[in-house]
Amino acid sequence: MDMGDIMDCIFCKIVNEKIPSYTLYEDEIVKVFLDVNPDVNGHTLIVPKKHYQDLFDIDNDTLMHIMDISRKINQLLSDKLNTDGLTLVQNNGLKQEVKHFHLHLKPQYKNEGNLLPVEEIYKKING
Ligand code: 5GP
Ligand code: ZN
Repeated sequence: MDMGDIMDCIFCKIVNEKIPSYTLYEDEIVKVFLDVNPDVNGHTLIVPKKHYQDLFDIDNDTLMHIMDISRKINQLLSDKLNTDGLTLVQNNGLKQEVKHFHLHLKPQYKNEGNLLPVEEIYKKING
């Protein structure tokens, strides 16, 4: 991993606010924002602010913080979008499109409606 890779990293750009995102939460360690191309309404990504490539690169403290934040975001999604469960996905290697560690939070719904625009979901969560 050289600096060129990190400078071209789309999630580093989001963390550094060079690219906008629908951010739900942030602290000194993570930024949490809606996936721009959601599989399901409320599809969210938890991204460490520091560039780690994947599960095999990230340290345990950061990983544990991400899991802790996933519980808080689950509560937010449950309160605002009436979700009925949560699926966590984390790709490494071949199926990892963005080579900056991220945890997908995909809400589950008893009655899954149509996929709404991300902006609309963001307003529901922040309304
Ligand atoms: P992966 O396949 O690497 O696990 O998933 C990458 C995810 O990042 C995809 O779900 C994709 O929609 C999302 N994504 C890619 N580029 C952007 C972006 O610029 N902004 C946001 N919010 N999500 C992105
Ligand atoms: Zn990065």
